[in-house]
Amino acid sequence: MTRAVIALGANLGDRGSTLRSAARAIAAVPGIRPVASSREVESVALTLDGLDTTKPRYRNAVVVVDTDLTPDALLDALHGIEDDHGRTREVRWGDRTLDLDVVAIDDIRIDTATLTVPHPRAGERAFVLAPWLDADPDAELPGAGPVADLLAALGDDTERIDEPRLFDGQGSGQGTEQGPEHTR
Ligand code: ATP
Ligand code: CA
Ligand code: CA
Repeated sequence: MTRAVIALGANLGDRGSTLRSAARAIAAVPGIRPVASSREVESVALTLDGLDTTKPRYRNAVVVVDTDLTPDALLDALHGIEDDHGRTREVRWGDRTLDLDVVAIDDIRIDTATLTVPHPRAGERAFVLAPWLDADPDAELPGAGPVADLLAALGDDTERIDEPRLFDGQGSGQGTEQGPEHTR
């Protein structure tokens, strides 16, 4: 069993509904158990040319899960959920209905053609660090240190959205079983 941190992002469609649906789908994957989740944050789109205020703004969130899946199987499951939510890939860092990134898996290091963990750009993205800290106040980015310190050094340019945490019925950091209504 490993503990994985997953970043969710969307800037097309009904972003909040998509993030909530994606979180339910993640929690429903066999071999994944929800542990904690953040509220949503919103921020200006980051493109290859930098921050772009002409693009639709992003909603981002983070979920923490326990899983028996291998890292590759976890990434495959996340890609399947992206596809189910209409993700297309045209331009690098282009607009998207849903992006699911593996931020960290315990404190392991992976660097293959398809998967780099910890996510190499997580430490420089407030839209990852701020919701991660919200989901887990004690979070640490392996090799880089406490997420609270990283975010303080970087500056938090995200706006907190006043909505419940992504995992339904989550109390003080504890995940719950999923309701019966969500099927794929
Ligand atoms: P970024 O990685 O900078 O956030 P992105 O999320 O827009 O960019 P994608 O087009 O979604 O990039 O993903 C491209 C590829 O990145 C994926 O097909 C996947 O194989 C690879 N990848 C490598 N490491 C990871 C990771 N930690 N999480 C998710 N995908 C990863
Ligand atoms: Ca990403
Ligand atoms: Ca991605």
